[in-house]
Amino acid sequence: MTRRLLLATLGAVPLALSATSPIDASRLRSRLEELSLCGRVAGGSFADGVSRVAFSDADIAGRALVMRWMRKAGLDPKIDAAGNIFGRRAGSDSKLEPVLFGSHTDSVPNGGNFDGDLGTLSAIEVIEALNAQRIVTRRPLEIVDWTNEEGVAYNNGLFGSRAVAGLLDPGEMDAVWQGVSQKDALKKIGGDAGRIDSAKRSAGWFHAYFELHIEQGGNLDREKIPIGVVEGIVAIDRYEVEFRGFANHAGTTPMADRQDALLAASELTIAVNEIVRGEPGRQVGTIGHMEVIPNAPNVVPGMVKMTVELRDLSAEKILRLGGAVETRAREIAAKTRTALEFRKGSHHGSALADPKLQTLIEDSSAKLGFATKRLPSGAGHDAQSMARMGQMAMIFVPSVNGISHSPKELTRWEDCANGAAVLLETVRRAAS
Ligand SMILES: [Zn+2]
Repeated sequence: MTRRLLLATLGAVPLALSATSPIDASRLRSRLEELSLCGRVAGGSFADGVSRVAFSDADIAGRALVMRWMRKAGLDPKIDAAGNIFGRRAGSDSKLEPVLFGSHTDSVPNGGNFDGDLGTLSAIEVIEALNAQRIVTRRPLEIVDWTNEEGVAYNNGLFGSRAVAGLLDPGEMDAVWQGVSQKDALKKIGGDAGRIDSAKRSAGWFHAYFELHIEQGGNLDREKIPIGVVEGIVAIDRYEVEFRGFANHAGTTPMADRQDALLAASELTIAVNEIVRGEPGRQVGTIGHMEVIPNAPNVVPGMVKMTVELRDLSAEKILRLGGAVETRAREIAAKTRTALEFRKGSHHGSALADPKLQTLIEDSSAKLGFATKRLPSGAGHDAQSMARMGQMAMIFVPSVNGISHSPKELTRWEDCANGAAVLLETVRRAAS
């Protein structure tokens, strides 16, 4: 089925929730469709996705829409020095820390219509639903649209949430991307690099952080489960590996005399797969980059540079697996008579979702009649910055065929509405 036909079919399906949930599913849909106009290819349709890279004209237009809808929901949007857009709804006890929730509206080039957009517009929808029901929560509510989550601009993601958590890198304000400084880019969206420290908040400034997001993987769609409860965002270890052999004539060097760096790299590629699959769990391991030198058809490869990337919720587990990969790499180097360099490239720790908040999402889903499944997030999210400052949890909804960062990214309208309904119920309970 083509995407367009699929959308037309989905459009004809009555939204199961529209009668029972205070979430206005048709307004959420029409706003997602309207936001999609910001960054749409000329002459394209919703099915062509969006290019709404942070700080672009499309991003600025999208942020203006978000602020217009915040005002319609009775909020007074404020932009901090990092360009994050916040909107606060008073609670009955103004002394309490707020319940914070939201997502981002920037995208990758040729991205989809749901990544970030769903969580941001659902946050506004939650406020609208509470207004419509005249519910005043005990805690204040604060919604947020984070700046440059994707990190396409300046090649550094989670910008806005890292600024708030005090996790910006030294010199990050001096970065230049496509001829524009980070300082000027921030000015374009109402931020202020000169006061960037003012965006920083202290730990515990919110009571709980929630983010509704599409899964961007295929687990929920495959198992037909409407709501995913995120256990945490995985830790990532990257290694840079080099095998150095001897580049020699491919016609005159006998097989037994070769020091073939690619043969070693190939064995390690298979070994990583074996090691990662060699124990139960959801850990993943990838050789995603390989450089063969000199990379010529008639030369025995003299050198290979490659990366090994390992991900899991448990930082301890991937550290141990990395050790096993290194041991195997040394055995392979000895066997192939190559020299090995095995360096740790980068380490990003995991961010665990709070167990009580996970239960809160499950209870809220159960009340609404939705089955849930706990699962890790293999992708990064602003929630991981917030995990450094307080308790957080994430709600996932199914991505059709697990596709994301693509115009083919799709979450069914009823799944969007279901996710918003669970966000509403969860926030209401957390703020009571
Ligand atoms: Zn996202």
